[in-house]
Amino acid sequence: MTTGTPKEVITAAALTAPSARAQERPTNVLIVGVGGQGVIMISKVIALLCERQDLDVKQSEVHGMSKRGGSVFSHLRFGQRVYSPTIPIGEADVLVALEWAEGLRWLPFLNPETGTFLADTQQLIPPFSCRSRKPGAVTNYARHTVAEVAGKVPNCFATDASRMAAELGNARAANTILLGMLSTALDFPEQEWLTVIEQLVPKKTIGANLRAFAAGRTWVEQHDPAAMHAEAPAVFPAAADLGDYVARSAPEINAAWCKGCEICVKFCPERCLFMNDRQVAELKDPDLCTRCRVCERLCPDFAITLHRLDA
Ligand code: SF4
Ligand code: SF4
Repeated sequence: MTTGTPKEVITAAALTAPSARAQERPTNVLIVGVGGQGVIMISKVIALLCERQDLDVKQSEVHGMSKRGGSVFSHLRFGQRVYSPTIPIGEADVLVALEWAEGLRWLPFLNPETGTFLADTQQLIPPFSCRSRKPGAVTNYARHTVAEVAGKVPNCFATDASRMAAELGNARAANTILLGMLSTALDFPEQEWLTVIEQLVPKKTIGANLRAFAAGRTWVEQHDPAAMHAEAPAVFPAAADLGDYVARSAPEINAAWCKGCEICVKFCPERCLFMNDRQVAELKDPDLCTRCRVCERLCPDFAITLHRLDA
């Protein structure tokens, strides 16, 4: 198995069976993010692809976060014969990050010569790392820009996948956009990815997930990793605070997705949310809301959105 830049793999268009390439050494894919983002779903897709190709696959993961905010990672190794489930430092062929700071944290695991870093630039700032929750307040969140990271890793593809997914109509499909990006870096035929995704996602979301997959794949095809040095996405203004540098709307709560867990109500620092008589979270007093985004980040069901007002 060889990995190169995703672009090289695509333009080679010789997506030969992984089994033919996987004889030399296992392929190592590390997937990282925080609870609720779909790290485990990505691992399952790859594991199933391997099974369908009769490849040996080993997976080691830490998960179990019932609410968003905790680190989740999954080591996946596959090839003709795999003996250990964990990826040594510096040997990940591909690092897939569903959250920017988590990606930065795991960068030492990426192969410094040939590794490919695929990242969602979405920032989920742990609420308790904020000294102040006021809009524009300085946080302790990582400040490395995409351009800085791109200058240090062999192949960097970073984009606001969460926003892309929201624009496609399903904010929860950001992980499938990352899957589309990942599909350009691994040698499985595109149709195999589609078949496995259809098998794994809920039936009513198949269409949305296939669109998200295609969007991620196309995005990589249209971007040159070398250009990432120069064109840091606008979401990462150099030297600006990464906390709440854009104005946001008051929280919009999607009643259909709210399962009534009350996490947002309990954690809102301003106490401006409550559970209504249908057991759905509701905003009590918009004037009290500081747009701190704590509720949005902690909702395990992505039911709360604070819209960017610059969009
Ligand atoms: S909006 Fe989210 S966090 Fe709040 S009660 Fe509903 S499911 Fe729970
Ligand atoms: S409603 Fe949400 S955004 Fe507003 S103050 Fe409470 S936690 Fe922060």
